Amino acid sequence: MAVPAITAEWICTRCGATNRKLVPIRLTRAADRCVTCHAAHVVEADERPVRWRARLEE
Ligand SMILES: [Zn+2]
Repeated sequence: MAVPAITAEWICTRCGATNRKLVPIRLTRAADRCVTCHAAHVVEADERPVRWRARLEE
């Protein structure tokens, strides 16, 4: 059975590029890498469902 997923949209804190990642619906936190500059980020669900908060992974 397919796991329901949502598209998390996040803005790279290094280069400002918009990234999108398909995340299982129950997840509120995910690791992703910017498609443009490849900086590793941790993205977390915000109150708005689509736009997620992003910070550089340490
Ligand atoms: Zn970037």
